[in-house]
Amino acid sequence: MKIAIYPGSFDPITNGHLDIIERSAQIFDKVVVAVSINSQKSPLFSIEERIEIVKSVTSHIENVEVKTFTGLLAEFAIKENAKVLIKGLRAVSDFEYEFQMALMNKKIQPELETLFMMCNKEYSYLSSSIVKEVGRLGGDLSGLVPDSLIERIKNKLK
Ligand code: ADP
Repeated sequence: MKIAIYPGSFDPITNGHLDIIERSAQIFDKVVVAVSINSQKSPLFSIEERIEIVKSVTSHIENVEVKTFTGLLAEFAIKENAKVLIKGLRAVSDFEYEFQMALMNKKIQPELETLFMMCNKEYSYLSSSIVKEVGRLGGDLSGLVPDSLIERIKNKLK
């Protein structure tokens, strides 16, 4: 069984993330979305809320599981029997950081591969932080996040 891990903070999950999850689920037998607790940033949604939200918007994809992890991602991946980490690339600016992370994860777990998937051109400008910024300023979030989340995000930003 080919298992891949798709990690992120998903605060909140956007249509860009969802696109990567849907495409990965067509390639792998199972995709584990790994929601990071992310102690450095103070998240808008708690870890429990982010897990619940990611579960609800991926419930139509049979081979997706949603989990959280603490500690090293590479070790979590091995524990999940995954051989692949999926990362979405939006722009050249994502590359340097992801390159460093991929090499570090390779050093920690040589049997783990990082695969980069190009974002959908519709979402190349999209990030969780820009969604929060636009929402905070009263902008329209349709098309950026799943419709079912729009009110919830707006309420949280109030
Ligand atoms: P963000 O960068 O939006 O705060 P995360 O830290 O949760 O989001 O990112 C998790 C993963 O999703 C990373 O691999 C990131 O490159 C990827 N990603 C984020 N936004 C998009 C997008 N719009 N299209 C494709 N991949 C994305």
